[in-house]
Amino acid sequence: MKIAVFGTGYVGLVTGVCFAEIGYNVTCFDIEETKIDTLSQGKCPIFEPGLEEMLRRNLANGRLSFTNDGKAACRNADYFFIAVGTPEKEDGSANLEYLEGAIAEIANNLNKDAILVIKSTVPVGTNERVKDKLKANIPRELRVSVVSNPEFLREGSGILDTFHADRIVIGADDQETGRAVARLYEPFDRPILQTDVRSAELIKYAANAFLATKISFINEIANLCEHMGADIGDVAKGIGMDHRIGSQFLNAGIGYGGSCFPKDTKALEKLTESCNYDFKILRSVIEVNSRQKQQLFYKAKELFGSLHGKRVAVLGLAFKPHTDDIREAPAMELIARLLDEQADISVYDPAASGKVSPVFGSSLYYAENADAAIKGADAVFIMTEWPEITEYDLARYRLLMRQPIIFDGRNCYDVAEAEAAGIAYVSVGRKAVN
Ligand code: NAD
Repeated sequence: MKIAVFGTGYVGLVTGVCFAEIGYNVTCFDIEETKIDTLSQGKCPIFEPGLEEMLRRNLANGRLSFTNDGKAACRNADYFFIAVGTPEKEDGSANLEYLEGAIAEIANNLNKDAILVIKSTVPVGTNERVKDKLKANIPRELRVSVVSNPEFLREGSGILDTFHADRIVIGADDQETGRAVARLYEPFDRPILQTDVRSAELIKYAANAFLATKISFINEIANLCEHMGADIGDVAKGIGMDHRIGSQFLNAGIGYGGSCFPKDTKALEKLTESCNYDFKILRSVIEVNSRQKQQLFYKAKELFGSLHGKRVAVLGLAFKPHTDDIREAPAMELIARLLDEQADISVYDPAASGKVSPVFGSSLYYAENADAAIKGADAVFIMTEWPEITEYDLARYRLLMRQPIIFDGRNCYDVAEAEAAGIAYVSVGRKAVN
């Protein structure tokens, strides 16, 4: 049996490598030649813990291969897994051009019956359209079924999430095809939920919208805490201890980023427009998040008046720890604003600096470590809670900075400890120490 995976990004690569790991024969196809060259040499173009090692093992045992030859990828494939990007278009809707490209490639090269599994996050109704498109473009005697199998892995723990998924959702309008895909996943021994196609497509958007809602909600409560003199740490703990609420996703901060929540909430909003449904909560979630992302900047402006010529250090660039993904990262928005103010900026991230330099070039100083970034700074912004950053010794700020002022977007430190260390400390939803 042969599996072809289209797209070797965070989702496609993890999927392909994990399928090879459990014993399947996998060919990964991508249109980016350099990516395929890198992968074929056993090097991982993204930062994902444990992935490179597993990739090399499966390249060596011959179960995994990479190609940018569409014909070779498609030849004799029994299953096609589509994991191409579905980024945000200017109007907020999902851009399906990469999906269309992948479908055209498959239609051109299909040589036997196959099952096409769409892992990419796509608007409700897309699977049906893909099926119609394929039908119209492949030889009559071939049969292709289309199955929705949305992905829930988190960057930074992609392999773990694949092997320990809370659930695997398989949406198929024909039971037999759904069962065939379910059998593929049996070796993972995880709960499988079989649904119709449209429900599976919506589950993905609903899950992300719910998680984004939880984040925006706790951020609103944090802002209230600042007005009312309460502490968001205690408040979040107190509400999270209620099992109906749960303690996860209650860390107040500077808003959600990444390649999924921002685009998926907006794409869902766009979808609701198409059926004339006014999804009020979702609109507020998006609005709250965009305001929250600007919070630290305005707090700094309030304290400094002008940031012109100030030396500022930004610690953490990725949208969350354990990844190098900077898409929609709050740090990117902050840096753009600081550059507008003509601040003098140094940045440090354990994994993501290489992704930021093509965007901001020489307008930033890319430090090798946190010490080098904060040396001589007038202010530090903490934007990503990498362990290395949360565990960074408070005393070093005092030692290395021109004046020790921290704007902490991830509430890494205890307020009392920052105060005791003689540091001006502004965080989210907690008492500010000036
Ligand atoms: P990505 O941008 O990291 O990777 C997409 C890959 O697809 C790129 O390597 C690109 O070159 C390739 N590609 C584009 N057109 C192609 C084509 N015609 N044929 C073959 N390859 C092609 O994207 P990602 O983060 O892996 O996300 C993929 C999908 O999965 C998206 O729909 C996303 O919303 C969804 N998703 C992502 C995550 C995540 O954490 N990143 C989690 C769950 C779901």
